Amino acid sequence: MAGSSAPGALGAEPEFITGAHPRVLAVTGPQQYESVLDAVHRAVPPVPDPFVDLLPATGVKLTPRHYSYLKISEGCNHKCKFCIIPDMRGRLVSRPAHAVLREAEKLVEAGVRELLVISQDTSAYGLDRKHDTSPWKDREVRAHLTDLARELGSLGAWVRLHYVYPYPHVRDLIPLMAEGLVLPYLDIPFQHAHPDTLRRMARPAAAARTLDEIAAWRSACPEIALRSTFIVGYPGETEAEFQTLLDWLDAAQLDRVGCFQYENVAGARSNDLPDHLPAEVKQERYDRFMEKAQAISEAKLAARVGQVIQVIVDEVDAEGATCRTKADAPEIDGNLFIDEGFETLSPGDLVTVEVDEAGAYDLWGKPV
Ligand code: SF4
Repeated sequence: MAGSSAPGALGAEPEFITGAHPRVLAVTGPQQYESVLDAVHRAVPPVPDPFVDLLPATGVKLTPRHYSYLKISEGCNHKCKFCIIPDMRGRLVSRPAHAVLREAEKLVEAGVRELLVISQDTSAYGLDRKHDTSPWKDREVRAHLTDLARELGSLGAWVRLHYVYPYPHVRDLIPLMAEGLVLPYLDIPFQHAHPDTLRRMARPAAAARTLDEIAAWRSACPEIALRSTFIVGYPGETEAEFQTLLDWLDAAQLDRVGCFQYENVAGARSNDLPDHLPAEVKQERYDRFMEKAQAISEAKLAARVGQVIQVIVDEVDAEGATCRTKADAPEIDGNLFIDEGFETLSPGDLVTVEVDEAGAYDLWGKPV
């Protein structure tokens, strides 16, 4: 990175770059964040951090492949106490709708079959631009998630939405899923279910009636798959608060769940909260949480045996094909494996299979 400039999201805290890389010549504003993140990642492969990273620990594949991450904005206007992203990457800066769509169209033309929409706060897309419009094809497209998702859905690839907060307008996305324009999949980082814990986390939408929202989404699109992440052992989390989370999980019946034990992150405001929990309590709650999540996943997958579904092929080797259903994001969710009749398949193929076996997180099937 020596001799380069470093425009971008980290420009909100230039000393973060110049302190670590004194030979950097310039740190400028947040408009060209793609290039700075690429440059930073090329120079300093990021250490995976589930509290900061948008992407799975395996990172961004630079070689063309059949799925691609599509970043629609950078930064965040919230101030969750356990999170340092707003300090590191600044406030929300959304890309114009036409820039996102042009990139997406190029990716699809280059053979990408699945677009994974990411940002720190996908539901907030365009808020900073006051949802302005920009010209795309013969029309104007608004920088708003609903409008963007509809346009992305018309490009002919699978479109999967990550990091969507349960704001009321998320309801408007569900009809797009029911219509088949966007995958019936929502990755929503709920983090907890007890209102007091959420308040201590300073989470956005802390008061939202999430179970009612989930029920409404499912009634509009019964096949929707919901993924979320949670933090257990947050400072001050009582046994009763944790139990509320377990009960909520029982009621919510999420399809995919990730869980982290709370840990201090340098610079996070939650470090200063009272009543940090001992490691053994965090571990014990994590184990109880994952036991329940696994049981839910197992039951949900068992119910899919016998269904005929479409899957996308990720890899093929001598043993079989590793695929994903519409309910599985790459690298973080489960797989569907094909052990027979896979010889003619290639990565990126869409195949119709009958599910014939289910485990706790994965399925097996055969082409029909
Ligand atoms: S919504 Fe909260 S957790 Fe997510 S990036 Fe913003 S501050 Fe961090």
